Parts: sequence; structure tokens; C-alpha cells
Amino acid sequence: MISAAETATKAVYIGLGSNLGDATRNVQQALVLLDKMPLTRLEVHSSLFLTAPVEASGENYVNAVARIQTSLQPEELLRELHHIEREFGRDRPYRNAPRTMDLDILLYGLQQIQSDSLTVPHPRLTKRAFALIPLLQIDPFITIPGAGPAHAFAADVADQEIQRMGT
Ligand code: AMP
Repeated sequence: MISAAETATKAVYIGLGSNLGDATRNVQQALVLLDKMPLTRLEVHSSLFLTAPVEASGENYVNAVARIQTSLQPEELLRELHHIEREFGRDRPYRNAPRTMDLDILLYGLQQIQSDSLTVPHPRLTKRAFALIPLLQIDPFITIPGAGPAHAFAADVADQEIQRMGT
């Protein structure tokens, strides 16, 4: 939760994905945990979407995007997200392996970040329907720093299977 004194918050967009275990429940629980991170509150989240794995094996994914307000710095936020991933028992046996919980920083305010541990905006945001479409659902006119209006990329992902769930 955020106190009134902590005014320097940023709007940050987090991508959530799960394709192991009860994926719907995992995503719903992770949304609750995002709101419980220090110096952070969950503002809004998209519907849950069912998507086919891209360059990966396993079950369909359940995906969503959340907008949070946070005073955490990007690296601190990444640590908190890894902490939540670990609560779901996620290990990383190989690249794009099925996962109980994957949390990505899609956008961090208007910042562009390139470090050893972080690339923001997330490099796959404009290329993956599972991130772009839920983002557009909650903020249809959002601009991606360095790339332009997010909706301009929708046509590029039109061939990727994505279905809004009833939840
Ligand atoms: P993955 O196994 O796909 O979840 O990748 C995890 C690693 O990607 C993390 O340990 C991060 O250091 C790195 N990474 C780079 N950019 C981002 C980002 N925007 N959001 C989350 N992780 C990122």
C-alpha cells in the first residue's frame, strides 16, 4: 500500500503469464500479490486472456496486464516480481519453459532502460499479442516510449491466437 507522503509514484505496466497448474488461479493470485508489494498499489488490470504459446511448448497460457502505481525503483521492482514468481515455485530449467508465473515489466512510466538485468519497454511488447492486446484493453491510446502509439502494432500481432476469458 502507498501512503499519502509517497507522492513520487510511477505508472508501471506488468505482464502476467502462467501455463502450469491452475493458470487462471495463479494469475488471479499474482494480481493480489502485486497490490501487496511495498510502496505499490494495483490500479487496474485487464481481463484474463487465453493465448497459444509462442516459440514455446506446453499448455495454453493465461495472460493479463496490470497497471500499478509504485515508488519502487525499476531494479527494486524486478526483485519484488522475482520474489512473487518464487512464491509460485517457478524454476527456469530452460528458455521459454512452461512456467507457473512469469512477471515482466512492460512499461515503467516514460522511462527507457537498458541494463544487464532490464530492458524497458519490454522488447517483446510490440511483438506479442499476449502483452499488447491486454495493454490496449486497459489503455487504448497509450504510447510506448521510443516506439510510438501502442495500437499501431496491433495489426502486426493479428495472426497470434488470443481469446478473452469470461473471468
Ligand atoms: P524470463 O525467464 O523470460 O522471465 O526472463 C527473466 C529475466 O529477464 C529477468 O531475470 C530479468 O533480468 C530479464 N529482464 C529483462 N528485461 C526485463 C523486463 N522488462 N521485465 C522483466 N524481466 C526482464
